[in-house]
Amino acid sequence: MIKDRFGRPIKSLRISVTRRCNLNCIYCHKEGTLPTNYEMSKEEIYRICKVAKEFDINKVKITGGEPLIRKDIVEIISALNSLNFKDISMTTNGVYLKNYAYKLKKAGLDRINVSLDSLKNHIYKSITGKDFLDKVKEGISKAIEAGLHPVKINMLILKDINENEVWDLFEFCKEHGAILQIIELVKIDDNSDYFEKYYKSLDSIEEEIRKKAEKVMERKFMHGRKKYFIDGSEIEIVRPMDNSVFCANCTRLRITPDAKIKPCLLRNDNLVDLKPALKCKSNYMLKKLFIEAIHRRSPYFGKYKYVV
Ligand code: SAM
Repeated sequence: MIKDRFGRPIKSLRISVTRRCNLNCIYCHKEGTLPTNYEMSKEEIYRICKVAKEFDINKVKITGGEPLIRKDIVEIISALNSLNFKDISMTTNGVYLKNYAYKLKKAGLDRINVSLDSLKNHIYKSITGKDFLDKVKEGISKAIEAGLHPVKINMLILKDINENEVWDLFEFCKEHGAILQIIELVKIDDNSDYFEKYYKSLDSIEEEIRKKAEKVMERKFMHGRKKYFIDGSEIEIVRPMDNSVFCANCTRLRITPDAKIKPCLLRNDNLVDLKPALKCKSNYMLKKLFIEAIHRRSPYFGKYKYVV
């Protein structure tokens, strides 16, 4: 298994297949990607994943923008499935999921994350700009029925907006057999005024959860994230901000919609462009660029912040 200069193994690929989205969330970091009109073709995504597989990268997550906006999304999953990844997952806002859940499962998708920050119509609308809460709930039910397992609900905590809904969302997840994933707001660039407005530390929420939990687990290769077990259900906490443990346990490479390897969510000064190599017939250059991108990885939070 390939490791970076800091001894971190590279185990997963997070691919943003489009920057387009059908929602307009007030906090969205768009996976830290820069504006672009380029969108990788299904064939390009397949080739990049094939090379990743040769480096023993066995997990792939499809994200966006909104991945279900792509007309060829089921074919993309089928193509990845033919590469025998151990785990293929997706994160979606769930708006189109009702119609896609069975097709995605059949194509080889193993599991799914659905972003849902509120169960109140007016709050959902104030966050996303759209009135789609019922569609998302239907999508979640369909995903569970289709056997995408587990279904995780991504709840981003926003100060004074949804911070009091944690236990309602937990009950919703418990009823549906889903896992709640609570996410800390991330600041992507210095001009992001959403961060000043909505950032809420997860300390008090995590403390409440910890008190109720029967068991706690740490996910070593998933940024050292904590998982809490309560009443036969689970809550996972994702706290990337100023978290050197999170970075020390990062095992992920990202791919942008315009075919660049992005070694870190929080940086755009060390991207590796795969487009020229995708024009070559052989995968030799692609492999070299993967190695270069892995070499460029350095923990953002922690001692090595400024190492290129
Ligand atoms: N449209 C898809 C979705 O809604 O899941 C995929 C893209 S979205 C960028 C992926 C995840 O990133 C979502 O769960 C969302 O909550 C999270 N996210 C977006 N902006 C964020 C931010 N500023 N801080 C932390 N997480 C964020």
